[in-house]
Amino acid sequence: MIKLNHLNYYRLPWNLTDNIISWLEPTAKCNLACLGCYRKNEVNSHKSLEEVDKEIDVFTSYRNTDCISVAGGDPLLHPQITEIVKLIKKRGIKPIINTNGIALTEKLLKELKKAGVYGFTFHIDSKQNRPGWKDANEIELNELRHKYAKMLADERGLACSFNSTVYEDTLQYVPELVKWAEKNIDIVNTMVFILYRAVDNNKVDFYLGSQKIDMTSLVYNEDVPDRTDIMAEEIYEIIKKEYPDFDSCAYLNGSEKPDSFKWLLSGRVGRKGKTYGFMGPKSMEIVQVFYHMFTGKYLSYTSPKDSGRGKSLLMLSLFDKKLRKAFWNYYKNPFNVFKKLYYQSLMIIQPIDFLDDGRQSMCDGCPDMTVWNGKLVWSCRLEEQLKYGYNLKTYPKELGRYAEEVVEEEPVEEKEPEKELV
Ligand code: SF4
Repeated sequence: MIKLNHLNYYRLPWNLTDNIISWLEPTAKCNLACLGCYRKNEVNSHKSLEEVDKEIDVFTSYRNTDCISVAGGDPLLHPQITEIVKLIKKRGIKPIINTNGIALTEKLLKELKKAGVYGFTFHIDSKQNRPGWKDANEIELNELRHKYAKMLADERGLACSFNSTVYEDTLQYVPELVKWAEKNIDIVNTMVFILYRAVDNNKVDFYLGSQKIDMTSLVYNEDVPDRTDIMAEEIYEIIKKEYPDFDSCAYLNGSEKPDSFKWLLSGRVGRKGKTYGFMGPKSMEIVQVFYHMFTGKYLSYTSPKDSGRGKSLLMLSLFDKKLRKAFWNYYKNPFNVFKKLYYQSLMIIQPIDFLDDGRQSMCDGCPDMTVWNGKLVWSCRLEEQLKYGYNLKTYPKELGRYAEEVVEEEPVEEKEPEKELV
């Protein structure tokens, strides 16, 4: 596997108090059961508008946030989804709906737009058991992706993103998805690849204090046959085989592993079916810093209007060697001056990594923090909070056995209650 040097890329400035995204879950109810999902489907789990409002208060009291991802479950199943969108919009935050798309009708789309929705992230991949698409592979699913992208494009002005979980046997399709996004750069603003993670019982044991936890009690999938350690650099490498000029510009590191790429961002400039080049670290730094200077926030999703301003972006090639290449590729043909140029984000997300010594490496500056009991917690670990009230600790297998022995040898004695002094 290729080894990238993180110091060659721009470390995205996102952190606990100032971040692009916050993650709201108004419901845990869903109409699909995706293999890679880390939330338990709960039928009666809709939060009231008051509860949702309080959670937004928690976000805004702790951090600057450019957008709120409304997720779940599937948020479109919440009967007051348009009201939720209004609550977010009212505070000057961009509401983004994270959905599998099944419940999205033209009527609901219009209502959401009227309520102020900024954009949609559609989660579509081949391990969702989607009705009507059960045996479809990632390439065949492009037809469905296109349907949703077109739906948003017809409505105009809505940001369109796609998430896809990547498994060992779907890795091979990533370059095709990158190509599909290139063909649809005029209507698709972001493509996100989320690397599949699950409980790895061969490597670590899970503990709540000294109590070993049977992980089958959680929804994180145990003993799954797929690889649970695919790395962002592997995805980078297979994309690069297809696009030799491909490169990333920015990243978030792991909380325990500074040289890992938990969020690896690439910014492509191109037109339908043609990529002229990619952003380098300098131009991404300029975009984030200037946006923050003028709005007080870091930039998350861009509107289709801004994504269509690729030519303005090329001006940053003055400061950015990599972008300069895109500039020359584009203006090789002087007639291109009359044509529209687009920007598109390609993001690779590498969730939790278990290190050899048992440490858990999370995304440092996690954008997808959600609210639990008035606190900010990692949304990918919410099930632990709900069931145990804490995040579980992990130890390498051999250390876990030692911990069990210690507990058996030294049982905790019950204390006599102290006598009250009169
Ligand atoms: S730490 Fe978890 S919730 Fe946060 S961004 Fe990473 S995968 Fe998402």
